[in-house]
Amino acid sequence: PIFKVGEVVKGKVNLEQRKHLSRHHTATHILLGAARRVLGEHVWQEGAQKEVEKARLDISHYKRLTRDEIRRIEELANRVVMSNLPVHTFFEDRNAAEQRYGFRLYQGGVVPGKLLRIVEIPGWDVEACGGIHCKTTGEVGLIKILRTERIQDGVERLEFAAGEMALRDIWRLEGMVEEVAAKLEVPVSQTPKAIERLSSELRELRRKVEKLRSQLSKAEIAKLKSLAVPAGKFSLYHDLVEGADVDDLIAIASQLAEEDPRSVVLLFTVKGEKPLFVVIAGREVLNSGIDGAKLAKVIADSLEGRGGGKRDIGQGVGKSREFIPEAVNAVKKLLESQA
Ligand SMILES: [Zn+2]
Repeated sequence: PIFKVGEVVKGKVNLEQRKHLSRHHTATHILLGAARRVLGEHVWQEGAQKEVEKARLDISHYKRLTRDEIRRIEELANRVVMSNLPVHTFFEDRNAAEQRYGFRLYQGGVVPGKLLRIVEIPGWDVEACGGIHCKTTGEVGLIKILRTERIQDGVERLEFAAGEMALRDIWRLEGMVEEVAAKLEVPVSQTPKAIERLSSELRELRRKVEKLRSQLSKAEIAKLKSLAVPAGKFSLYHDLVEGADVDDLIAIASQLAEEDPRSVVLLFTVKGEKPLFVVIAGREVLNSGIDGAKLAKVIADSLEGRGGGKRDIGQGVGKSREFIPEAVNAVKKLLESQA
C-alpha cells in the first residue's frame, strides 16, 4: 500500500509469529556460543536467517561437522536453555562496548551509529544486534538442529528449529518412522531388524531367479537343438521364447551359435504386442559372408519393423508377431542361397 504524509496508519503485530521469531533469534545466539565452544574460537557468524518455522545459522568452519559435533553443539545449547539465563538488551556507547566485549560484538556485521544495541546472555554470548529476543533462554524451549550443509568453502550452514517448531520437527520424524514401521507391519522398535530381514530375502530371491534363468536357458537350448531346420549347408535354430527378455535371448543364442558354427540362431520374444528379435550367426556362416547386420535387415524387412546390428549380433523389433514365420522363412532362403 502507498501512504500519504499525515495519513494515520494502524499497525498490528502478529504475536504468534513474533513468539516463534524471537525464539529462533535467541536460539541463534545460543547456538553460536555453543558452536564456538565445541569447534573453537575461529567460529564466526557468516550469516543467519530466521523464519517462523525454522532458522539457519552459517558459521565459519574449515570442515564438515560430524554427527558427534552436531550432538555436542545441540547438547550445550539446550543446557543453556535449561539454565534459564537472562537475555539482557541495552544500549551502549560504541567505543565502550568494543573495549568491554571486543570485536566479537559484530557477528552480524558492523552496525552504524554511535550507540550500539547490545544483546547479552551473561557468560555465554554477547553481540550487537537489533533483533527481537526472548527475555530468558528458558523461553526458547528445545533447540533442535535439523540438518547441516556445506554452503561454500569454509562455511557450514546449521538449519534448526526452536520451541514448538522443534517439537513439530520431532513429530515429523516420528511420523516417518511410524509410516515405515506400518509398511513393514512391525512395531517401530523392530524396523531395523525387519529391513535387514527383507534385504536378505531379496538377495536370496535374486539368487534363485538367476538359478532359474540359467535352468530355463539350458532347457531352451536343448529344445532348440531338437528343432534344427536344415537350410542349404547350414542349420537354422529358431523359436519364440515367451517371457524371456533380450538379455536371455542373447545368452541362449550366443551359446548355441558357439556350439554349432554352421548355424544361425534366431530368437523372438514379445513385448506388448511387438516381437523383439535377436539373431546370431555361427563362425562358418560368418565366413560365408552372412553376418548379424545383414540378417537383422532381412528379418526386420519381413517383420515390417526396424533392425540393425554388427557382425556378431543383429537385433530389432517388428510390427506384429504374425510376421514371425515370414521372417524365419526369409532367413532360411538367405542361407539356402549360399549353397
Ligand atoms: Zn539477535
